[in-house]
Amino acid sequence: NFVSHQFNKRSTSEQPATATVTFNNLGVPVSTEFDDIYFNNENGLAESRYVFLQHNDLPTRWQTSLHSTFRIAETGFGTGLNFLACWQLFRQTAPAHQRLHYVSFEKYPLQKADLERALGAFPELAELAHALLDAYPAAQTGCHRMQFDNNRVVVDLWFGDIHEQLPNWLPNAKNTIDAWFLDGFAPDKNPQMWQPNVYQAMAHSCRNSGTFATFTAAGAVRRDLTEAGFEVTKSKGFGRKREMLRGTIQKKANAASPPSETVTVIGGGIAAACLAWSLTQRGHPVQLITSGIADGASGNAQGAVYPLLHAELSPLSQFYVSAFDHARQFYQSNCPDLWHATGVIHLAFNAIREQRQHKIADSGCYAPELVTSLTATQTQTMWEPLPALPALFYPNSGWLPPQRLVEQILRNCGERLTIMEVSPITEISKTSNSNWQVETSASERFEASTLIVAAGANTSQLLAQWRIETQNVRGQVTQVAANDVSATCPMVVCYKGYFTPAINNNGELTHCVGATYNREFKSESYQDIEAADTEENLLTLQDNLAQPWTHELRAVNNRASLRNTTRDHLPACGWLTDNLGVLSGLGSRGFTSAPLCAELLVSQWLGEPQPLAEPLIKRLAPQRLQADSA
Ligand code: SAM
Repeated sequence: NFVSHQFNKRSTSEQPATATVTFNNLGVPVSTEFDDIYFNNENGLAESRYVFLQHNDLPTRWQTSLHSTFRIAETGFGTGLNFLACWQLFRQTAPAHQRLHYVSFEKYPLQKADLERALGAFPELAELAHALLDAYPAAQTGCHRMQFDNNRVVVDLWFGDIHEQLPNWLPNAKNTIDAWFLDGFAPDKNPQMWQPNVYQAMAHSCRNSGTFATFTAAGAVRRDLTEAGFEVTKSKGFGRKREMLRGTIQKKANAASPPSETVTVIGGGIAAACLAWSLTQRGHPVQLITSGIADGASGNAQGAVYPLLHAELSPLSQFYVSAFDHARQFYQSNCPDLWHATGVIHLAFNAIREQRQHKIADSGCYAPELVTSLTATQTQTMWEPLPALPALFYPNSGWLPPQRLVEQILRNCGERLTIMEVSPITEISKTSNSNWQVETSASERFEASTLIVAAGANTSQLLAQWRIETQNVRGQVTQVAANDVSATCPMVVCYKGYFTPAINNNGELTHCVGATYNREFKSESYQDIEAADTEENLLTLQDNLAQPWTHELRAVNNRASLRNTTRDHLPACGWLTDNLGVLSGLGSRGFTSAPLCAELLVSQWLGEPQPLAEPLIKRLAPQRLQADSA
């Protein structure tokens, strides 16, 4: 097929090099790698508008589009100037119901400080630039999905060489793109990028009547784009430039966007809430069926959000890099009052852990925005009452109050969301017209044309006929009253367990100390508090930290719930049939993984470009957990 013929290069999984940038005397960023300017010396914004917006017929096409989402793809994100110019115009002129999905590839991500300086030259874009800077991801290979304007504007930033990332993206992007911004440094300065496989990917990904525009009029570019199927014309170039190119591709006409179908979601935790959000933001009504909101593993008082990393970029690490950056940005923009970006410190509490942390720090796989390593002295500089142990520090990580956050996300969904609180759901079965029937223990019945199971600990039971094997693991969290020392703890402290910063709990300052991990438990009484577990939580803290203040902490409350886990620690996220989806198996990391998984599941259903590399999407498919698939 097209994809495997065109790209047989092995995809490298290292962290991409960041751009080396200087600023010329006009304040314009110049690339050291390519010896070329990022944008026009005289007026970068005017050139961007002229070349890319005007010559792709924006905003006229936003007014006339048959599709609810207009999609743009770009080669070379650079400073994000094209994106910001486009977003600004979209805000000013696009119909209110329309969404913008902007996909961009970047081999050498700019460092945040360079980005800030470069965009500082455009005061009229200041608000948008600020939002971009807040969301800007760590320089890690792969896709980073960011959302703006209440999810009306979505950006997928793919870091890595475009030739390596296209095969990760293209299989799910056929006939999806309305306009290409063919940027990249001048073809004679950067011949490696301007290759026929990029033009063929542009053609493959375009919808009918898709367009492109580019600042160059180089003969080879024109010929190769024509060869790829575009009807190419020359236009007057910007300013003193003589010519530029634009083009259109004709394909079989696409159907207009389908009408908004209602989706039924089973579940009341973070997975269900994120699904409800991703669907309602795209205009789909959602019916949520649950026996309780955030009353399972999503119901604890405090939960840490940080990526799970290996010493190599395994699929697990790659998934969590993308998922974490998305989650952080998602909470920051949708629930800013509930997201506490305090940083998370992970102590090397024994020799094995210390060795493992060294390997992660020395692997060169991770950008410093994601994780850094601390010496014993640096650990105590972070907060003096910590033990003198080396550690890993996740600077952009933090914690949130799970239950309140789930409720907030559901409130944010607005009128398109209906919540039905029902007795425990016992079974799902197919109806004669290929819909799904959901049945509760009180024999209530609901019919769904499209159903997603996001039911945490009930997953295996509800999906029994598909033999999806997930494992429930009981966890007990202990809340302790703060003392004078503990109350000043500024960040989440992880060791074998975890300890959270103090919160005000009905007038009393408390911390969460978690959590036990029991594979063996009595299913009828798993919520009962076990004194031995309370003791285990406190002893682990006291033993791992070995600090006097940990000995004075007294338990005031406990809570037990079930995590739903998978044998490979990756979520179960995908479609079992074209109208039965699964989002489960999030383990102890649901608040890190759920926002991206929900986006993935919904984009799969709607045939949108997806926010993860194709090999990772395959890894998450629930079919891998079928009893006879091992
Ligand atoms: N569109 C950008 C803006 O609005 O600021 C300007 C883009 S700049 C002229 C060209 C960009 O293409 C650089 O950021 C460069 O790192 C990137 N680039 C060059 N070769 C690439 C490749 N093979 N794959 C992905 N990106 C590449």
